[in-house]
Amino acid sequence: MSTGNLTINLKGITNNWSTLDRMSAENVETAAVVKADGYGLDSGRVARTLYPAGVRHFFVAAAEEASAIRRELGDNVTIYVFSGHMRGDTDMIHDLHLVPLLNSFDQLTRHLEALPGHAFGVQLDTGMNRLGMEASEWEAVRDLVVGLNPSLVMSHLACADEPDHPMNRQQLAQFCAMTDGLGLKRSLAATGGILLGPEYHFDMTRPGIGLYGGAPYAHAESVVHLSLPVIQIRDVAEGETVGYGNSWSASAPARIATVAAGYADGLLRALSNNASLWHEGQACPIVGRVSMDMIGVDVTALPQLPETLDILCPYQSVDELADKAGTIGYEILTSLGARYARRYVNQ
Ligand SMILES: *Cc1c(COP(=O)(O)O)cnc(C)c1O
Repeated sequence: MSTGNLTINLKGITNNWSTLDRMSAENVETAAVVKADGYGLDSGRVARTLYPAGVRHFFVAAAEEASAIRRELGDNVTIYVFSGHMRGDTDMIHDLHLVPLLNSFDQLTRHLEALPGHAFGVQLDTGMNRLGMEASEWEAVRDLVVGLNPSLVMSHLACADEPDHPMNRQQLAQFCAMTDGLGLKRSLAATGGILLGPEYHFDMTRPGIGLYGGAPYAHAESVVHLSLPVIQIRDVAEGETVGYGNSWSASAPARIATVAAGYADGLLRALSNNASLWHEGQACPIVGRVSMDMIGVDVTALPQLPETLDILCPYQSVDELADKAGTIGYEILTSLGARYARRYVNQ
């Protein structure tokens, strides 16, 4: 065994969805966001896991990403596309029965011309300035759109992971101003928005990261476990260095393990000299620079020679590891490499 072992607990994903689902009222639909291949964990498998729990609405970023969901679940579910109706997407939107979330007047025109009568939703910009129609654009097409019976009208919160941020209320007010009284099905909240409370839930919520065990959903069950095999162990004397650039040197005699994973596997180089691997409850610091395929780890504190060391485990969550690398859990998950031996369990 020469690569890391990535274990993905599908039961954790189901439990996280169910808990997030219970946070909103009975008449609020809880969807699942499976963009970026299910946050790196295999969107088809995630979808197949969530269907029996009751998920019937899935969101992807790009039309191409929907094919894995359709392959698994056939026509039993609705798949929405955040990027809307892009040039070149018409056949895919038609053949896979996708619901594009139209972001602009141009996309609306393209959709109505290319696929008249085909379902669509609308994405509104309420201040994030990323995707969606702005208030003036919406006002110009609103009556036309309402007459065409869109499947969903949605927007996205920029600061939902900070509950006290004034932007949340501001965007909520803007969303209401743009959509109140139109009789349309509405969605505003992702994981962070669900936690902000029922005012933010409208008719459908769209959790992503919370399903996969990441912040801001603090009570998420962990989903991934990553264990790395030790290739070699050596003893170094005081003053010896480890790895490229001699960025770490031993202040006392030390025992160094070289494990088989590196930045090519998504273990960011920013973790150099800056995080730990774990052997049961014992932290073993990363020493020296993270290489492409290897990481040096100080295992001096361990009573025996380890065969593996864990980097994502009960002692170090995706968010804790992300913190060490100066990033967020989303980036750790979606960077998980293709070389790991992936094992899916359901416990
Ligand atoms: C990614 C995304 C989501 C899911 O967000 P999480 O923070 O992962 O729950 C929901 N809506 C939109 C528009 C997104 O881009």
